[in-house]
Amino acid sequence: MNSLTTYEDNLAYSKSLRFGTQAFIGGKFVNSLSGKTFETVSPISGKVIASVAETDKEDVDLAVAAARKAFDTGVWRNMAPARRKAIMLKWADLMEKNARELALLDVLDMGKPIKDALTIDLPGSVNCYRWYAEAIDKIYDEICPSDPGRMVLVMREPLGVVACVVPWNFPMMMTSWKVAPALITGNSIILKPAEQSPLSAIRIAELAAEAGIPEGVFNVLPGYGPTTGQALGRHPDVDCIAFTGSTEVGKLFMKYSAESNMKAVNLECGGKSPHIIMSDAPDVNAAATAAAWAVFFNQGQACNAGTRLLVEASVKDQVLEKIVSIGQSITVGDPLDPASQMGAVVDDTQMNRILGYIDDGKAAGAKIVLGGERRREESGGFYIAPTVFDGVDNGMRIAQEEIFGPVMSTISFKDTDEAIRIANDTVYGLYAAVWTKDINKAFKVVRGVRAGAVNVNTYSGGDITTPFGGFKQSGQGRDKSLHAMEKYTALKASCIVLS
Ligand code: NAD
Repeated sequence: MNSLTTYEDNLAYSKSLRFGTQAFIGGKFVNSLSGKTFETVSPISGKVIASVAETDKEDVDLAVAAARKAFDTGVWRNMAPARRKAIMLKWADLMEKNARELALLDVLDMGKPIKDALTIDLPGSVNCYRWYAEAIDKIYDEICPSDPGRMVLVMREPLGVVACVVPWNFPMMMTSWKVAPALITGNSIILKPAEQSPLSAIRIAELAAEAGIPEGVFNVLPGYGPTTGQALGRHPDVDCIAFTGSTEVGKLFMKYSAESNMKAVNLECGGKSPHIIMSDAPDVNAAATAAAWAVFFNQGQACNAGTRLLVEASVKDQVLEKIVSIGQSITVGDPLDPASQMGAVVDDTQMNRILGYIDDGKAAGAKIVLGGERRREESGGFYIAPTVFDGVDNGMRIAQEEIFGPVMSTISFKDTDEAIRIANDTVYGLYAAVWTKDINKAFKVVRGVRAGAVNVNTYSGGDITTPFGGFKQSGQGRDKSLHAMEKYTALKASCIVLS
């Protein structure tokens, strides 16, 4: 993967970049039918990066028609699996070859540190495409153990046209988690990137064409949620929505489906994840370090951020002292600087929303022990200090609502039962972790907390082989692992009577 260089180098390289700004429909780059564009603004400086095609319902109709045609002709789904695999692997190779450019597009669009984009997002995304590509010619269908004289086949078939609607927090990565499993199962894809981060999606469309993905099989529609996103959600010829984003918009997609064609709706939504540190954690300082980064990573804009720190009362001071010292040492800087550990939050709306939650926490009586303020205002960009609240009650808004910023809410508990009760006192159920040496306590928490993942003595566990997704209002369906393929396929049974 292309290596980290210097700030000056990254700045010069980013200035030399040529941005693709059109929609990609039926194998061609096109303007929106209305000719309208929208500006994508960099949170690094608050300045406009480019004007991008603003698609709407009519463009959605065109993209769906192109995707449907590709599906119906079978140009992709009926291609020999080994050939499809080779094309997908070539696509991944091209992304790897252009990793620095793709990483920079995400950095410019949404403000994450270049170091994270290059060492986490890009390798993770490329690996995701490769991993699913490798699965194409290794998965078998089934034959039922039925009576002799008949043979019952169970086959997995692609659903048809899949619309992937993704957020801005990990533009390349969230796209890969949807597009890779949906493509390898033979579907035609329409990708709608978030309006804050369309640039890498447009670039990978170019690479898809170069890799040999047939026209109409992979389409990209930059545009806004309430227009393009809603038109995809309501389209009678879209068979499946694969959505990552807020719970609020996830619910809208269920409504769109109910009011149109009952398309399958898969949702990866928000979270308010509990990170539980018991007094018998194997290493309290290691747990505190993990807790800090579980919130500050990606400026807190991670659906599975461990934003509720549940800490046993007897070790709370030790844990908070360590977290505060880490927070004080974090470099919040220009994301193009490889030394920056935290960059900008995605836009001014998000920044003001986060600052509003910080005010709300203070007004509710929680105590700020770190941060709480805007940083680097002179840059024109949108930066927030790592922030920690102590003395939070789980009923407060800062403990119940997804802030999507670098804000930790600390809540203390007395025993395992209380920790589990507080952990579950939320509408979300995406992710959790517990630190303890006691296997009995650990397993009690694993069994007791209602979340798609409950890790022990680590916060982030699991790679592409591990399913990811939520219980409750964190969504339904799973990304990653072979289970993700279940979302993009339907079972077909065929009973054959043999004479
Ligand atoms: P968002 O819900 O506002 O937007 C996500 C996508 O939906 C964007 O492409 C947007 O254009 C589109 N959209 C917005 N309004 C729409 C509408 N009315 N109709 C149709 N489409 C619409 O979310 P966001 O602010 O981009 O991302 C942050 C959210 O994503 C957080 O809630 C976070 O938890 C969630 N997220 C979840 C996961 C997960 O795997 N569970 C991963 C990353 C992010």
